[in-house]
Amino acid sequence: MSFAPANAIQDILVFGEHGGVNPSIEDSATFTFMSPETMEEMFESGLEGCFLYARHYNPNSRYLAQALSRMEGTESGHVTASGMSAIGCTLLQLCRSGDEIVAARTIYGGTYALLKNFLPRLGITTRFVDITNHDAVRAAITDRTRVLYTETVSNPLLEVADLPTLAEMAHQRRLTFVVDNTFTPLIFTPAAHGADVVVYSLTKFINGTSDAVGGALCARQELVDALMSVNDGAAMLLGPVLDTARSASMLKNLHSLHLRMRAHSRNGLAFAERLASWALPVHYPGLAQHPQHALMRRLMHPEYGFGGMVTLDVGSAENANRLMKVMQEELVGYLAVSLGFYKTLFSAPGHSTSSEIPTAEQQAMGLSQGLIRFSVGLDEDIERTLGRLEQSLRRVGLR
Ligand code: PLP
Repeated sequence: MSFAPANAIQDILVFGEHGGVNPSIEDSATFTFMSPETMEEMFESGLEGCFLYARHYNPNSRYLAQALSRMEGTESGHVTASGMSAIGCTLLQLCRSGDEIVAARTIYGGTYALLKNFLPRLGITTRFVDITNHDAVRAAITDRTRVLYTETVSNPLLEVADLPTLAEMAHQRRLTFVVDNTFTPLIFTPAAHGADVVVYSLTKFINGTSDAVGGALCARQELVDALMSVNDGAAMLLGPVLDTARSASMLKNLHSLHLRMRAHSRNGLAFAERLASWALPVHYPGLAQHPQHALMRRLMHPEYGFGGMVTLDVGSAENANRLMKVMQEELVGYLAVSLGFYKTLFSAPGHSTSSEIPTAEQQAMGLSQGLIRFSVGLDEDIERTLGRLEQSLRRVGLR
């Protein structure tokens, strides 16, 4: 049987301090030792089941990391204070001054800015490519390239990366293949298609309640150990720790991720199909006209659907702004960035989450100023929401 990520989470057994069905929340930043010798041993090589200091590991972040690495089928994992810190620490651990990264050009604006503006200050440069053009990816790899970086389904254009082909290309040149799977947890298992590191913004679908920021990376034990090295580990020394109470609450939310992803996908498909039936320019990988629809079908776990992210191009920034204001009034959802909430969230990436990308480059990659990105919610009655959407489109003259 093929890998079943939700079953892997379901089978984790946890015993809290008093036998609780959820792990007890650890309320200490430092931990006692019965002898100085044990402390010394802990510093030198670590001791299974022992904790030293909560920036290194704390029990709750370890439980969450273990559950996520089970979900991804990787040897190990680590959780961090945000998606950006998971991405930043991973890249800093893998690259040093003089190294290059080849990255998809359609990625989250914060990641783009990290690669384009920040890492060059440390001598690490990035070549941005159209990740669906494999000749362009191959041509961008040089002897200095260390990392191939992509999102599984890109933010905000919803391009689907051909993970097995990209993994093969990366491994032929001894690169580490890093995949951000934030838009599609459970839908894709990138490590099964050759990803060496899977990074997440937990802030989105995985936590699902828009009440906290967090990040994670799932990878080989060797890389996680390197990130946590007291001498030169990026996660250990830069210190982006996820608070224990947040780790505990995110683990509890992870338990219902399979139900939520099915509902997001069911509503996302209904939303996209309705917009398409009105002949509006909608992008959704679940629609047959999406350029990577067949590829996604081949790589996904079909039971979780095509995801909750949909985009609609309304032609201009003015149209987008008018429509978003009206949709909020009509209770379609919230005008807000982020994704993976029970309510539908919408924003215009050109002026918000992708504003770090210069306008000329946005145009070159097909990111129009009129593009609205929807994270479709968990609405029980999606027909009611679609009625509100139609009413909103009528009010601004787009239908
Ligand atoms: N990756 C993707 C695809 C994102 O959409 C985001 C945030 O919007 C991030 C990473 C960064 O995550 P965080 O905001 O948790 O730092």
